[in-house]
Amino acid sequence: MSNYEAVIGLEAHVQLKTKSKLFCGCSTEFGQEPNSQVCPVCLGFPGSLPVLNKVALDYSIKVGIALNCRVQEFTKFDRKHYYYPDLPKNFQISQYDLPISKNGFLDIEMGKRIERISIRRAHLEEDAGKLIHKDGLSLVDYNRTGQPLLEIVTEPDINSPEEAYEYLTTLKSIIQYLGVSDCDMEKGSLRCDANISIRRKATKELGTKAELKNMNSFKAVRDALQFEIDRQMELLNNSEAVIQETRFWDEKSGKTFSMRSKEEAKDYRYFPEPDLPPFVITQDKIEEIRETIPELPKAKAKRFMQEYGLLEYDVKILVSSKDNADYAERCFKAWPDKNKKSVANWLIGPVAALANSRNKNIADLNIPVENLLELIDFVETQQISNLTAKSILEEIIDTGKSASQIIREKNLIQISDESSLGSDIEEVVKENPESVEAFKTGKEKAIMFLVGQVMKKTKGKANPKVVQEIIKRRLNNE
Ligand code: ADP
Ligand code: MG
Ligand code: ZN
Repeated sequence: MSNYEAVIGLEAHVQLKTKSKLFCGCSTEFGQEPNSQVCPVCLGFPGSLPVLNKVALDYSIKVGIALNCRVQEFTKFDRKHYYYPDLPKNFQISQYDLPISKNGFLDIEMGKRIERISIRRAHLEEDAGKLIHKDGLSLVDYNRTGQPLLEIVTEPDINSPEEAYEYLTTLKSIIQYLGVSDCDMEKGSLRCDANISIRRKATKELGTKAELKNMNSFKAVRDALQFEIDRQMELLNNSEAVIQETRFWDEKSGKTFSMRSKEEAKDYRYFPEPDLPPFVITQDKIEEIRETIPELPKAKAKRFMQEYGLLEYDVKILVSSKDNADYAERCFKAWPDKNKKSVANWLIGPVAALANSRNKNIADLNIPVENLLELIDFVETQQISNLTAKSILEEIIDTGKSASQIIREKNLIQISDESSLGSDIEEVVKENPESVEAFKTGKEKAIMFLVGQVMKKTKGKANPKVVQEIIKRRLNNE
């Protein structure tokens, strides 16, 4: 590989979260009965006429601005023709030479290095239907037909599967912040085709590319690209040619397979959509939409670091989702102490772990902010141990009870006062002469075993720090 480099360009299809489809009033709701959300327009009946969904246009402009694109003042739609059963009109309304946005970029962070990925264009188009192959039958569901997609195309600027992964992660997070799509690859609201070729380093000319399809997670995109790099490298090493084609990623075998030779633009017989006028996007309109763009993840991360004195690493995790960032900020604002580090630690530690194990976002755990802060305060003031706090946290989520209520009901307050711990410690010292001896002969670690025994006796309620202090003092004085 060393004399060669991978060249990758990504085409991401983002399903815009509008209530109705791109050119008709049909609902876009997910998971409804097949073919219940259709009408003459999206089914392409003769004589029906498309009307552009204004919200879809606004959302596309919003994404264009956020991706640093030049939003075009003059834009139009074109027909892209192909025949397939999921496309009842036999053409797709898309945009050919005048997309809504052009020439943008997205900066991604590869460790300490910032890579700028150029965005070639972002254009609006309608989705096709869904084919379902089942019990020897092929069925089609046209509910998805005509739903708005924004296709975001990069320049061949990406040089590794890891960069592709980071680009997609960053893109998804920005689009979610904008609130224009769920970007859920599992539900198909984000789909990605990856184009890849290999070339000699320091050359300008592009190699022959393969286009990869059917990856349904970012990890799959990364794996498919890595497989494809290896495959193409081997061809080149054997002096064989890479064929320009579309390849299909098979998750099970972890391989790509040839699907069909790649069609070219001329195969699609593009021509301007005669039923829709060209659209003029005024500067005022662009400015108006710019105003609605919220603080984006990078800016938010910077502000969190400055305002709340947090570290870059912690902040990055918190701002990866807008909901999580908003939740975290509500916690920070309600935490009286100037130092928000302990709250951040809780969020990215135990709370995130719990959210993960339940396949949820931190924010979706719906822990009332005051409950969480109360719990953290109990730990900070050493009234309960970290371990106890974690189990209380689960109970808060499951029962909705407050931390203090659970602590009261279960009598969980940590025992820190010496007089109540004295007899348990005395017993443990008597029962474990070897560990006591080991400690006295300089084995510092032996004390941890003794502390553990006291914790056991008190059913985890003793304050381990205090116990350790008392044992040390007791043994050193002996
Ligand atoms: P096509 O007409 O085959 O769809 P495009 O020129 O529209 O190709 O490009 C589609 C995507 O493929 C873009 O993201 C682009 O950056 C990328 N791309 C184009 N040529 C190459 C290449 N030789 N190697 C890798 N990626 C490429
Ligand atoms: Mg293309
Ligand atoms: Zn319709």
